[in-house]
Amino acid sequence: MTSYKELGLVNTRELFRKAVAGGYAIPAYNFNNLEQLQAVIQACVETRSPVILQVSSGARKYANKTLLRYLAQGAVEYAKELGYPIPIVLHLDHGDTFELCKECIDSGFSSVMIDGSHHPYEKNVALTKQVVEYAHARDVTVEGELGVLAGVEDDVSAEHSHYTQPDQVQDFVKKTGVDSLAISIGTSHGATKFKPEQCTRTPDGVLVPPDLRFDILEEVERRIPGFPIVLHGASSVPVDKVKQINSYGGKLKDAVGIPESQLRRAAASAVCKINIDSDARLAMTGAIREVLAKNPAEFDPRKYMGPAREAAKELYKHKNQDVLGSAGHA
Ligand SMILES: [Zn+2]
Repeated sequence: MTSYKELGLVNTRELFRKAVAGGYAIPAYNFNNLEQLQAVIQACVETRSPVILQVSSGARKYANKTLLRYLAQGAVEYAKELGYPIPIVLHLDHGDTFELCKECIDSGFSSVMIDGSHHPYEKNVALTKQVVEYAHARDVTVEGELGVLAGVEDDVSAEHSHYTQPDQVQDFVKKTGVDSLAISIGTSHGATKFKPEQCTRTPDGVLVPPDLRFDILEEVERRIPGFPIVLHGASSVPVDKVKQINSYGGKLKDAVGIPESQLRRAAASAVCKINIDSDARLAMTGAIREVLAKNPAEFDPRKYMGPAREAAKELYKHKNQDVLGSAGHA
């Protein structure tokens, strides 16, 4: 048993309280390997931003759960070495069972998500409550979810989304005791968030996605004022990254994300955690493709993973400074 407090990590409670009051959102970045973790911590130290390090089930399988955990738990010391100790949360993304959440809590996570959104409502309530009771006894915070996002994210996939029903949120929060709530208002997992037929096109052919459902967000806020809200699937799929990938041999088709202006608007509201994963994947892939296309004789992984790390870091800095507004709040 390892408590996150011995490791210098923090839970989300105080961070979310400040973020809701200050009209910004805490970035939640997924990582699967050393370079992604370095990029996240470097970017957040340089922009003086708190950060939520997210580990998904897919990441635990890919990198080995023990290695991944030690990597994340080293991040606190790493930030200090870089010259500024930022608040770091180690969070389980999309926990699907009580056992998985318990295992993460027992091994030093400071926050977990229990995603019961695909279950019938009453089962979601019961499962979430069970995790909350175990977590709160150890001062670990819990994120629940109501409503289902479309798209594919590691092990999480849903054919069809359905929006969060605002008339459920008050009851859910009260019955479960969760610390934050992920809602579905039109974001989705992956790099292709909308089909072309759902979008309009600008004269030069750029796909413009439909707006997020701010009416649902406002209705949720009215029911549970000041309660921390979470947005998943909030990558913007930058046009320049898609272009870079495709001009160096990639074949990404019709990738379209959430406009950053809409995320800024959400961050200024009760949305206090925004999950971004696909954008960093695109940034890294673009950098790697470019290096290898320009230097076909290169075979030192540091020569392409290094630029990939740099590209991800610049992207995270941009998100903290220009989209989420978390820069300067560490
Ligand atoms: Zn998600």
